[in-house]
Amino acid sequence: MPDIKVLVLGAGIVGICTALSLLEKGFSVELIDRNDPASGASHGNAGVISPWSCIPQSMPGLWKQVPKWLLDPKGPLNVRWSYAPRMLPWLRRFLKAGHPDNLPRISEAMNALNRPNVDLYRDYLKGTGHENLLQDSYYVHAFRNGADADLDALAWRIRSDFGVPIERIEGGALQDVEPEISSEYQAAILIRDQARATDPGALGKALFDKAMGMGAQFRKAEVLGLRPSEGGWTIETSQGVIKADKLVMAAGAWSMRLLEPLGFKMPLEAERGYHLMFNAPGIEVKNSIMDVDGKFVASSMIDGLRCAGTAEFAGLDAPANYARATVFRTLAKRLFPRLETSQVTTWMGARPSFPDSLPAIGEMSGHPGLFAAFGHCHYGLGMAPNTGRIVAGLISREPTNLDLGPYSPARFS
Ligand SMILES: Cc1cc2nc3c(=O)[nH]c(=O)nc-3n(C[C@H](O)[C@H](O)[C@H](O)COP(=O)(O)OP(=O)(O)OC[C@H]3O[C@@H](n4cnc5c(N)ncnc54)[C@H](O)[C@@H]3O)c2cc1C
Repeated sequence: MPDIKVLVLGAGIVGICTALSLLEKGFSVELIDRNDPASGASHGNAGVISPWSCIPQSMPGLWKQVPKWLLDPKGPLNVRWSYAPRMLPWLRRFLKAGHPDNLPRISEAMNALNRPNVDLYRDYLKGTGHENLLQDSYYVHAFRNGADADLDALAWRIRSDFGVPIERIEGGALQDVEPEISSEYQAAILIRDQARATDPGALGKALFDKAMGMGAQFRKAEVLGLRPSEGGWTIETSQGVIKADKLVMAAGAWSMRLLEPLGFKMPLEAERGYHLMFNAPGIEVKNSIMDVDGKFVASSMIDGLRCAGTAEFAGLDAPANYARATVFRTLAKRLFPRLETSQVTTWMGARPSFPDSLPAIGEMSGHPGLFAAFGHCHYGLGMAPNTGRIVAGLISREPTNLDLGPYSPARFS
């Protein structure tokens, strides 16, 4: 590869994986972030890495549940009233994405992006000494009411069509898999053959260190603006001006702040999620566990047991409402009766969410050399390695068999 300098804007898991793929192809890479690497959404997530993730957030009939969720301050969905008018166009698109006609295209695109993720992470981690940050895992979907664990429900039928290894278990078989789950949970559907990160932030940091070892540069600075110049890009930062031949936008939920001044309009929302970490939980679970009724994921991490979830729409700058994290105390105790809940820490992070649950990956129209790699919604940890590979392939002008249309940054115009 001739000496081409690529600036990757954002050192979250997407930017870090993109940097690794670019370095493998021989590009010269600089990562820039105003914060430490992997300290945004990529730090506090639930750690689920599923090659089988193919069910979008918006599904047919979901709208029927929305009013009930909105009226419950402890429910899984919250829209700050002052923000509601700005949310409406996004919500309209979100509900449209859940139309049955749109599902096959979205599920197929999610499936294609996620499928190689565990193998790619294992390859990246090989030889770093941090291989243990990735553990084999089932995804245990636990149901209080056994009748709700219905393999004929649409989402499970879609997974079956994609060949996802699923199995329904009930009664004591659930406690055989996860002894700490309450016997009040009558059944579960297991998704096999996936992985979980036992510290997503540390995983990102280990891959960042690998990228540095491969020759990447890192600049800790705030990016203030971008402009095309002399066949490349000029980036204004709090630490001076940088020039690059190519620019990858991987700034997660903040990406549109830098793209709007260039004239781009894309419906990206900060879908804020929370976690509650039980720092001395007194129990350990072996898998990623989705409490389907409580709508949160629980997983044992290096530093404790983490319960993560909820969707809050309040914009990028509103202060966090940690009451949305502490609701997990009651919910987690219901799931794991022996859980010790006295020592907890809270966290909030912004998922970069498009209404159709897919990211934007590709060259931005009218601005050659500017590539999108953002908008990974609930699935960014899983989708990051393949996103990086695709972006590096595009910058190298390599042909691909993958249909990139569903991820096109222009699909909303
Ligand atoms: C509660 C919760 C649970 C989740 N669970 C899972 C899960 O189990 N599995 C899964 O696959 N996904 C999960 N996700 C989603 C996943 O965490 C995100 O999709 C992913 O982390 C997005 O990565 P990113 O690199 O795009 O963004 P980020 O990690 O947010 O990184 C973006 C970076 O850009 C930097 N930046 C932004 N603007 C600027 C600027 N102007 N100048 C300099 N730097 C800038 C930020 O500082 C930040 O470091 C979860 C998310 C949440 C909130």
